[in-house]
This record gives sequence, structure tokens and C-alpha cells, in this order.
Amino acid sequence: MAKTTYGKNQMSYEIIDFHTHPFDDDATNFCSHKEYCNMSAENTVSYLKGLGISKICGSVVCRNIDHEVSYANEWEMIADSNRRALILKEQYGDFYIPGFHVHPSYVRESCEEIEKMSKLGVRLIGELVPYIHGWQDYTCKGFDEILEVATVHNMIVSFHSIENDKMDEMVRKHPDTILVAAHPGEYPTYIRHLERMKMSDNYYLDLSGTGLFRHGMLRRGIDELGPERFLFGSDYPVCNPAMFLGGVVLDTLLTEEEKVAILGGNARKLLGLDSSADAIGK
Ligand SMILES: [Zn+2]
Repeated sequence: MAKTTYGKNQMSYEIIDFHTHPFDDDATNFCSHKEYCNMSAENTVSYLKGLGISKICGSVVCRNIDHEVSYANEWEMIADSNRRALILKEQYGDFYIPGFHVHPSYVRESCEEIEKMSKLGVRLIGELVPYIHGWQDYTCKGFDEILEVATVHNMIVSFHSIENDKMDEMVRKHPDTILVAAHPGEYPTYIRHLERMKMSDNYYLDLSGTGLFRHGMLRRGIDELGPERFLFGSDYPVCNPAMFLGGVVLDTLLTEEEKVAILGGNARKLLGLDSSADAIGK
């Protein structure tokens, strides 16, 4: 596995960014400041590898407003996002672990997509972005059915954090589903994430978006739950991965072992990545 050395102690870490939204054109790149960032689908890999990140995970997000051709419905938008993720996977190879979208108003299509992706060896759903795809309830009947099929196929479901009570209910109803919540959030939301982690051993939290900048938050989480279920994530290209790397690598409240786990070890285990295959550069 590729490792990057940081800091005065010359520690080496494998860094897997569990939460990104890779893009294949300007329309699917929703960095608000992209015209200042010299970003392209071609230089994404070299840019992130330059920061020490050796793998990224996540979904491509197409939106109606960005494209000249508008989608007839949400499923068309989703199908196009999922198709683009598979094309990027071909381009990026082992660097990229694609995630795909599902939608509770399209249960049959979503379940077929799960079966198709499963056959292709894809195990990651999401990050799901209901606020973009026009839905909002993680406890609705349609999403229940989708989660049941996802669980049968041993999928990992990465989802955008929305209402706390609804997320509680989803975890209660689906204790066997591997769920990765995105974004710790501010204090009250983060505390609720920690409570949910206590409710289910299958509930993980990625550190992307809001939250990691609050000093001591990760130390608190590890003290309450251990380091195993926190995953490094940035939400690139929306957020700046350098800031998230600093938030973990330079956090003197964490031990080196904890950093190794959070930066890449936990994701490697969760995704079932074979360390020996990577080590010989496959
Ligand atoms: Zn995201």
C-alpha cells in the first residue's frame, strides 16, 4: 500500500479519503471556487496523491441546474451520475472506489442498480445526497426496502446527515446495515452521532464537512468509542482536503496508532481491501 511520510517524527500513513465526489467535467465539479483551483478530471489523481492521499471513495453528483440537457426525472439524473462514476473508475483504476446513488421513489430501479453494481464488484452506495435528489426521509418505506436489498448484498451505505431523529430510527430499523454517516456537524449533531455509534456497531462516521475543526472533538469520540469507526474524509472538491489532513495528522491529542486507523486502516478494513495485493502495486 502507498504510504506518505509526515511531520518531524517522519510517520508514515496510508491515507484513504472516504468521502469525495470526483467529477468528469466542469458541471459535475461543484467546488464553489473552482475557477481559482486549476482543477480537472485529469489532474485530480496527481493533485490528491501530491497531498499523500492514495485512494478516494464516493459518488459522482450530477445536478439538473448544471447541465444544458436537463434530466426528465431524478432517476435519469442518478443513472447518469452512476454511469459517470463507472467511467471514472476505468480512468482512475485502483485510486478510486466508486459509490452509486439510489432513490426511494425508484425502488425497483434502485434495487436493480444494487444488483448490477454488486456484480461489478462495487460495494459502496453514496454518499447519498437526498437534498439534491429531491427526497428527505431515511425512514420511508421505499428506502427501507432499498436498505434491505443493500444489506443482502453487503453494501456500505454512505449518507449525508439530515434529521437526527430520522437517522436514529433508520439505525434502529436496520441494525445489520453498514451505515457511514457523513459530516460530524456541530456539537449537538456530533453528540447524536456518537450516541448512534453506541446503538449500532455497524454505524461509522466520516470526518468530512463541518465538525473536525472543533478542537478535541476526535479525542472525545475515540475516548467514548475507540478509534475503529471514524473514517478520514474531506468532501473534495467541495472542501479542501489539506485542512482535513491537518486536522488528523497534526492533532497532538491523538496517538500515532489512532491516526493510522482513522486515516486509512479503518477504511481498508471496512472496504475489505487486500493489503497484500496493494503492496505489490496491483
Ligand atoms: Zn459529500
